[in-house]
Amino acid sequence: MSGSSPPLRVALLIVSTTAAKDPSTDASGAVLKDVIDQEGGGRWQLVDSKIVPDVVAQIQRQIMLWADVAVPEGVNLILTTGGTGFAVADHTPEAVSALLHKQAPGIVHGMLAASLSVTPFAMMSRPVAGVRNKSVIITLPGSPKGAKENLQAVLKTLPHACLQAAGQESRSLHAGGVKKLEADAGINSSGGSGVGHSHSHGSGHSHSHNHGHDHGHSHSHAGHGHGHGPLVRHTAPSANPMSNDPKLGPSRRNRESPYPMLAVDEALSQIKEHTPAPEIVATKVNRDLPGSILAEDVKAKANVPAFRASIVDGYAVVVPQDGNMKSVFPVVSVSHAAPGEAKELKEGEIARITTGAPLPPGATSVIMVEDTVLKTLTDDGKEEKEVEILADKVQEGENIREVGSDIKADSLILQKGEQISAVGGEIGLLAAVGVGEVQTYRRPVVGVLSTGDEIVEHDRPGELRLGEVRDTNRVTLMAAAREWGYEVVDLGIVADQSGSLEERLRGALRQVDLVITTGGVSMGELDLLKPTIERSLGGTIHFGRVAMKPGKPTTFATVPVKTNAGARVRKVVFSLPGNPASALVTFHLFVLPALHQMSGVSPAGLTEVPVTLAHDFGLDKLRPEYHRAVVTVGKEGVLLASSTGGQRSSKVGSLRGANALLCLPAGDVPKKKGEKVRALLMGGVRCE
Ligand code: AMP
Ligand code: MG
Repeated sequence: MSGSSPPLRVALLIVSTTAAKDPSTDASGAVLKDVIDQEGGGRWQLVDSKIVPDVVAQIQRQIMLWADVAVPEGVNLILTTGGTGFAVADHTPEAVSALLHKQAPGIVHGMLAASLSVTPFAMMSRPVAGVRNKSVIITLPGSPKGAKENLQAVLKTLPHACLQAAGQESRSLHAGGVKKLEADAGINSSGGSGVGHSHSHGSGHSHSHNHGHDHGHSHSHAGHGHGHGPLVRHTAPSANPMSNDPKLGPSRRNRESPYPMLAVDEALSQIKEHTPAPEIVATKVNRDLPGSILAEDVKAKANVPAFRASIVDGYAVVVPQDGNMKSVFPVVSVSHAAPGEAKELKEGEIARITTGAPLPPGATSVIMVEDTVLKTLTDDGKEEKEVEILADKVQEGENIREVGSDIKADSLILQKGEQISAVGGEIGLLAAVGVGEVQTYRRPVVGVLSTGDEIVEHDRPGELRLGEVRDTNRVTLMAAAREWGYEVVDLGIVADQSGSLEERLRGALRQVDLVITTGGVSMGELDLLKPTIERSLGGTIHFGRVAMKPGKPTTFATVPVKTNAGARVRKVVFSLPGNPASALVTFHLFVLPALHQMSGVSPAGLTEVPVTLAHDFGLDKLRPEYHRAVVTVGKEGVLLASSTGGQRSSKVGSLRGANALLCLPAGDVPKKKGEKVRALLMGGVRCE
């Protein structure tokens, strides 16, 4: 396994607050690159180099970007330089150590031994080394000299470590024993192996394998101790409160995420800034139109009514000069409310006319049937022949609706930004004036995806197996999005595997405008959403944490997507927490405003009203809370709010009946019954 294998990929992280401000102050980066290029035996390729300040969260975030998503190439070796000393600002070992899945004290030992042989001050470096996913990670000191010596001390053994960590089958690596390993690595040793391969493989597999990669013998690395003894922890749990390791248990879950925590308002302004503007489309006027927002001012295409029409049942007449119509008239025609040519009416003749029917040409007024008496019938007895009118002082235009008297052609009937409602008659107005198509803002199509190995279809027959959880979020969020007027695509459930997640998200982003995922956004190992969005999909996470309860890990990202037409657009991904209550609250608080913005609804988001508390409400000391509540109309129209009960984010029961989210501030003193707070209305309000 020498020259012919592809180069191992190295990423370099310079940890220095000074260099982060001014990269020209960094000297170690170049030195390390030289060591890798000149002493690495052509095995290495530096693929990325980044500078971050001495901030744990930023160090961890960059390392996770390199190590967490199993893109085909991956990063084999992550070297950090800086932040390993005793200074107040030195945090690199702690940041890295919390991310390691496997510790590599042997590498640490090798580096320290080498430096100690140069200076006792090597004791002032606190390196850590180990493996995260398939990447080997090593912290080097910040001084160019120290960094170089440390790297030189271990560099030759690292290809072997990296190949193993990357999953290369171990027997092919080890065939030939330590001597061959040393020879391959270019190390001369008298037998004391710094690499520490004390294990031997089962004798049943002793046939030779030189470059074999797959010989049908599955050799798992799990529990393969390499004779190193149990896992070594370098820090006491209390000294290292931050970890990605779900195995460390609930007491450690309040770790820091690499994403800054935004206030709810800041999160909302990020959404406003990065959600795409609405797109304008021509839309037919039909019963699907309600909910749409007009993207244009709409003018009447025609007069309403379009013809002079009678507003009563009676007789069209030609009013004589003196207005006196008291006389008997021949009925010369009938005008029903039906299209057709009418015969010209002359003075002295009348025409029977029904409500809404067009006036015959020449007619100037309509006499109500109540002001007339039937005199004679036609010979067949089926029609009126003569009618006596009892009215005098008749004026022209009586009982007539003039052309355009309701709506004039070309007048403005609806304005840009107005919403077409299903109850307000806007559709009827458009229909009346002959507008068959309007410009509206296209309503985005929403996709809903559940993530998690434990999640099963909610309607799967049979009992749950231990650990399985029914998919609550998908059906809930699809229903909610539909209720708000958006077309919904069911994206199903995807397991916690970066490959499948990436594939599913890619497909989804082609299909829909906005993707909602739930689960996989906390700091657990399998919480792959953020790295997948950032690394595999090239997206931008605008926020990954919000100071609120519930819903802290809510994540908002935009991802570049090429449309079928070849245009480059950005689509929106909301990764909501897995807990059902959190998912529904954050949908209403964050996703809805984005949907509104994309469809031109303004103001975006839930309607806010002041409400009066029906009982005391305790407050969270640190985070503002969005409390699921029932708001009703009480005496004298006061809106009264009561809690729907247990508000833990996992509590599905607390969703029942909730029609509002109370905005409770963080604080120590409970809000008292009768106090007023803001409430965001999710649904209609009923009387008590
Ligand atoms: P996660 O963010 O993936 O760690 O999920 C947090 C919690 O929410 C876990 O208890 C999950 O089992 C639960 N959860 C995640 N997705 C769903 C879902 N679609 N329906 C119900 N519970 C879920
Ligand atoms: Mg999960």
